[in-house]
Amino acid sequence: MPPANKKKQGKVCRDCHRVVDGEICVICGTTNLSEDWSGYLVIIDPDNSEVAKRMNIKLPGRYALKVR
Ligand SMILES: [Zn+2]
Repeated sequence: MPPANKKKQGKVCRDCHRVVDGEICVICGTTNLSEDWSGYLVIIDPDNSEVAKRMNIKLPGRYALKVR
């Protein structure tokens, strides 16, 4: 049986905390990514989200709460 829970969740941009699928952040265009992150966060409506405002998130998407 394959260990399904071992699957990587991807990398996170250190600048905007966005969860990135490839090697470059689609928002910042940076390769400053981290695989060491926690706290999965989905922002659907940044304008009406206190968390999004606090983290300075302007676009909907998947983000990480903490990036090391
Ligand atoms: Zn970014």
